[in-house]
Amino acid sequence: MYTSSDYPYGVLTLDTHHMGRTHVVASYVLLGDEPAIVDPGPASTLPRIEAALAQHDMRLADLKHVILTHIHLDHAGATGLILEQNPTVQVHVHAKGAAHLVDPSRLVNSAAQLWGDQLEILWGRTVPVPQKAITTLTGGERLNLGKRRLRAYDAPGHAKHHLVWYDEVSGAAFVGDNVGVRLPLLRFTRPATPPPDVDLEAWMSTLDMILALAPRWLMLTHFGAYNDVQYHVTDFRERLQRWATLVREGLTNGRSEEAQRDALDAHATAELAHLDEDERATVLQQSGAVELSWRGLVRYWQKQAKPA
Ligand SMILES: [Zn+2]
Repeated sequence: MYTSSDYPYGVLTLDTHHMGRTHVVASYVLLGDEPAIVDPGPASTLPRIEAALAQHDMRLADLKHVILTHIHLDHAGATGLILEQNPTVQVHVHAKGAAHLVDPSRLVNSAAQLWGDQLEILWGRTVPVPQKAITTLTGGERLNLGKRRLRAYDAPGHAKHHLVWYDEVSGAAFVGDNVGVRLPLLRFTRPATPPPDVDLEAWMSTLDMILALAPRWLMLTHFGAYNDVQYHVTDFRERLQRWATLVREGLTNGRSEEAQRDALDAHATAELAHLDEDERATVLQQSGAVELSWRGLVRYWQKQAKPA
């Protein structure tokens, strides 16, 4: 068995190689007396996770905990399949997301609306998680994994069922999708704001919370670990606000949906101008569709416009 002392702080970064691409979806393993996986990724990439664990002399059966930042399929989709193979695993998830793990039909249906017949290829077979395996949290809790201690923080913004997990041993904050998308070696963040529950006000408070937490590392699902925390969060906040403002302006200036989407797309492309050609191509291939982010922001502004 691979031990914590073999690896800095006992934190492993696994690349799920989603759709055969590197640096798109990360999963993290916390080694120690009670091994845990943070965001095991989509169901479709579980074989890859098993292969990566095997390289560290581990199997799914060795895991004691599945720790979820949020329940989107690219983060939590494999959870049910892990339980099929290892029924003793405890799953730790935000209380607002737990029901969708037990009955994933709504999650899968809304994903089907976005992805159509690509759903199964992209995300695999998402199976239910037994209720008894689930521990729900709302933020403020501590979780002891043997000697390792994690703290959970309520972190709405990208999704209302989002938690940030802070590892007291490594100083790493597992931030899921709350500080956007960034690729290794690039000093460049990009928002990911899919429907249905983007909440900008809550998101700004979550970013304040992350800065106040002052983690040593930001652990992004898309993709990897970054230690220029202040820069990253500040850059991300500015980009998120710019994207949101652009989408709101589009909604009020009477242009067609297509023209509005194109405007955000043009802005997102202009943001890549300082990168070289290879870097630009990589960002475009690795980060989510701008259209999905546009739809999530539209939905947010439409909710804001409705009287309470
Ligand atoms: Zn997400």
